[in-house]
Amino acid sequence: MTSGNTTVHQPHGSALRANAVVPGAGALRSLGASDVRLTGGLLARWQERNRTATIPHSLTELRGAGNLENFRIARDGTDEEYRGRYPFLDTDIYKTLEGLAYELARGEQPEVRAFYEESVELIAAAQAGDGYLNSYYQNMRNGKDAWSDLSWGHELYNLGHLIQAAVAANRQLGDDRLLKVASAFADNAYREFGPAGRDQVCGHPEVEMALVELYRETGNRDHLTLAKLFVDRRGRGLVALTLFPAEYFQDGQPLRELPSVTGHAVRMGYLAAGATDVAVETNDAGLLAALVRLWDDMVASKLYITGGLGSRHSDEAIGDRFELPSDRSYSETCAAISIMQWGWRMFLATGEAKYVDVFENVLYNAYAVGLSVDGTKFFYDNPLQRRPDHEQRSGAETGGEALRRSWFGCPCCPPNVIRWMSELQDYVAATTADSLHVANYAAASITAGPFAVDLRADYPWDGNVRAVVRDAPHEEFTLAFRVPAWAAGATVSINGAPAVRAAPGWAELRRIWQAGDTVDLVLPMVVRAHISHPHLDATRGSVAIARGPLVYCAEQQDNAAGVDDLILEPGAPALAHEQTRGIVPGTGDVVVLSLPVRAAAAPAAELYPLWTETVREVTEAQTATLVPYFLWGNRRAETMRVWLRTA
Ligand SMILES: [Zn+2]
Repeated sequence: MTSGNTTVHQPHGSALRANAVVPGAGALRSLGASDVRLTGGLLARWQERNRTATIPHSLTELRGAGNLENFRIARDGTDEEYRGRYPFLDTDIYKTLEGLAYELARGEQPEVRAFYEESVELIAAAQAGDGYLNSYYQNMRNGKDAWSDLSWGHELYNLGHLIQAAVAANRQLGDDRLLKVASAFADNAYREFGPAGRDQVCGHPEVEMALVELYRETGNRDHLTLAKLFVDRRGRGLVALTLFPAEYFQDGQPLRELPSVTGHAVRMGYLAAGATDVAVETNDAGLLAALVRLWDDMVASKLYITGGLGSRHSDEAIGDRFELPSDRSYSETCAAISIMQWGWRMFLATGEAKYVDVFENVLYNAYAVGLSVDGTKFFYDNPLQRRPDHEQRSGAETGGEALRRSWFGCPCCPPNVIRWMSELQDYVAATTADSLHVANYAAASITAGPFAVDLRADYPWDGNVRAVVRDAPHEEFTLAFRVPAWAAGATVSINGAPAVRAAPGWAELRRIWQAGDTVDLVLPMVVRAHISHPHLDATRGSVAIARGPLVYCAEQQDNAAGVDDLILEPGAPALAHEQTRGIVPGTGDVVVLSLPVRAAAAPAAELYPLWTETVREVTEAQTATLVPYFLWGNRRAETMRVWLRTA
């Protein structure tokens, strides 16, 4: 069909709108946009904000930054200067297109369609005759040869994001134009780096998961072979080193032998996600076991309570075990996305709920905080504490800023946020032939083959989830609900009658269902107080408050006493008072917490007084107001703390 003078490629049928991740093996298969529709609540609002604010804002930024111009220059072969600093700016377009494919499948928008069509045509036209495509290396003025700098060239990283956009366009829109471009570029890479090619890897992992998804989409096994080669080669010191150590590139030790997640956080997350895909498709139990071990170690020693990964601004790197300072938390927004990508793949491979517990933690905290309430400003790095004189200063930027900014010279995060918001429905539910596993909670309409159910929920504000069966087969079918580890005392009932005990993990209900059957899952949203591991020095003696999947923080504008001087006493979290109200303009009503605290008198001026002279501080009773962490920094740039003092 046509719209104006542009050709519109519609999906050929509902089956086409598959998930972003479609493993050929593993415990579960995840449902895609044809089968899961967000119908309300926070996730649907985020998706709406993405469509109405983040995408229009970002399309303007991308045009202004010259990302499309770079493709035009490559197409025309003119002697014009490349726009921007980095050789991976094509990926800003690719990640955006990945999101736009989902949005256009949900409904036409002329400006989005125009950007999509212009981009697809430019990308296809810029591709070299041998399939190679990278507007930085093809730029004549740059005078660089393709594949001449594997450490920093990011060409395979570019290919990875192109593939993911292409797979999304094919699955969501039935538009295979980018898939042809991506396949030709992947074939070029296979000739260059395949079994008969050069023994090399890209300095930035990403292409691995994309190549596996390309194989899943087209059946071309060469692309799976290449992905496996890249996973197996890394760790042998193949990346030429200039600025950073081999560890930065995860090239110091093979992944299977790596004792702990390490190096540049986003690289690590993408590599692990791709390795999970390779392990699943090649039935490599040893590789999967290594990934389980790395995941468990990361969760036990290297993730912030928000799910953020990466505690060093230097090298944008993951720190040592228990090196998790709140004020220096780097926790790049892209790293949050990479953890969700890895976690979802581990969940599909194993069926274990623990991976979704982390996914959920990341989603509502480390990921969500990366975007402003109005959808047009972004954090690159995500601290858990803001000191009053702090300036945000991500590793890839010169200059600092008080809070989020509207774009970056290295804008990896904003388009990553766009695609992830567009794909949220892909991470709600998974199935087997005779089961539906509801992994993440939202108001949603879900169809799993012969079984269909409507979820009603005001999650994450409220822990009551009601599922009403819309359609059911005549045989037994399992409806399973994830019971998060935080949901102690969860209950589940069918048509008002108590059903199985809901221990953390899965509440599995197997029976012959009837249309109209109603399941009520109650996840108690008790206010929790968390302390940290005794070896985590940075937060020793402090407490973080959480409720359901949300971590809370104290912002100065809501508190009379200085938030650095608020002191929590034992028992105070149990006295927390919940109030549903609007506190940050533009969010609607959210759950705000009030806690009894004591406010210490202003501390002595001395930085290091003698221990023997330290006396118990004089305090006065106060009430502290805490807001969800992901909403911080949307008002004035003031002091913020996740971890509150207890002394
Ligand atoms: Zn980023």
